Amino acid sequence: MDAVVKSLLERPLPQSSSSPLERPTREEAEAAVRVLLRWTGDDPDREGLRDTPKRVVKAYEEFFSGYAEDATNVLSRVFEEVHGYDDIVLVRDIPFSSHCEHHMVPFFGCAHIAYYPSEDGVVGLSKLARLVDVFAKRLQTQEALTAQIIGAIDRHLHPRGCAVMLEAEHMCMSMRGVRKHGAETITTQFTGVFRDDPSEQVRFFTLLRGGK
Ligand SMILES: [Zn+2]
Repeated sequence: MDAVVKSLLERPLPQSSSSPLERPTREEAEAAVRVLLRWTGDDPDREGLRDTPKRVVKAYEEFFSGYAEDATNVLSRVFEEVHGYDDIVLVRDIPFSSHCEHHMVPFFGCAHIAYYPSEDGVVGLSKLARLVDVFAKRLQTQEALTAQIIGAIDRHLHPRGCAVMLEAEHMCMSMRGVRKHGAETITTQFTGVFRDDPSEQVRFFTLLRGGK
């Protein structure tokens, strides 16, 4: 029993964070940053670092704002009046930044999204950029991010086909481990006509490169 009490007292975070899914308080999060500052070997009480835990926790709210967002809200407003337009819609070079779930360091780059609208209509073009952020502002792998973006478009817009390509540089590759600066990781996923018809994939890549 004593051992249990002792181990509770020694826990770096208060008891309220006992469930892993329960959101810790801001104070608990700041205390955790202080521990990491000490782990670097620095002194969290020196002037330059005194407000760092506050700033880091605030930055985390922005980095990980996607957990509070929902793809359904972003894609719910569809325009049906497109005057018969049923050809490809492609938005390329959508910048994004995310954090890898293995090291919690950034990876960033561009997303390219194309789809063939169904009779259900099209979404505002800025919505595709917002959709990328819904998933990018979470802990991610590039593969999962790609799959989540295309999955949401398929579910909500029922396009005849969708293509998503992500190009990104991972800080966990350039700053640590193999330390390869500038290495780009490319992921692609296709559904519908893009998956079934290789000439549609060629068209996607041709449009991506076109006019550059
Ligand atoms: Zn990583």
